Amino acid sequence: MATSPNLDTPFVRFIWKAFAQDLKLYLVGKTVYLSLGSNLGDRVANLEAAIDRLRAIGEVVRVSSFYETEPVEFTAQPWFLNCVVKLETDKTPKQLLAAIVRIEREMGRRRTQKKGPRLIDLDILLFGTSVIKSQGLTVPHPAMHERRFVLEPLAEIAPAVRHPVLEHTARELWEALPAGQGVRKLKVEKNH
Ligand code: ADP
Ligand code: MG
Repeated sequence: MATSPNLDTPFVRFIWKAFAQDLKLYLVGKTVYLSLGSNLGDRVANLEAAIDRLRAIGEVVRVSSFYETEPVEFTAQPWFLNCVVKLETDKTPKQLLAAIVRIEREMGRRRTQKKGPRLIDLDILLFGTSVIKSQGLTVPHPAMHERRFVLEPLAEIAPAVRHPVLEHTARELWEALPAGQGVRKLKVEKNH
């Protein structure tokens, strides 16, 4: 008598789970990585409020630790608090940009000095494997590979994610950074 194959092994369950995840992403959306930063007011509360608002745009699947980071470019301003969020969304890149600009505006960000202090900044780092160069949107974010405040939290939650142009992983890009740019993990209880 022929025996039927055992379909309830850990291996078969693993394959099904991976397949279901891929199918879900294929049907409903893309994996996106966002960089969040704040250096005005209650920085922890600002990052957490922005993360909460992101939940209306997609599923927040991972949030990195919060990092205190030295300002780069315009350095005469308070240290930032930064993190990286992994989001699964069915929005298009343009819709996502419009949504994050709206969050910045609704949270009270005023665009005064370029590269200056800000209540909240949301940047799109990676949008699946898309490469986009349109007016007002460049993805991957053009400076992500040289910023420790981006690569350290990104490598924390997604060390193997690959930059689609440079073809290096987040961990490789982070390890290749020159010394400098102060970044230290903040010891706080996060509420999410
Ligand atoms: P920055 O983040 O460079 O300090 P802003 O937050 O003021 O500056 O962003 C300025 C503009 O950058 C946004 O209005 C948006 O149109 C554009 N932009 C281009 N590429 C991106 C991206 N990948 N993520 C977010 N904004 C982007
Ligand atoms: Mg920005």
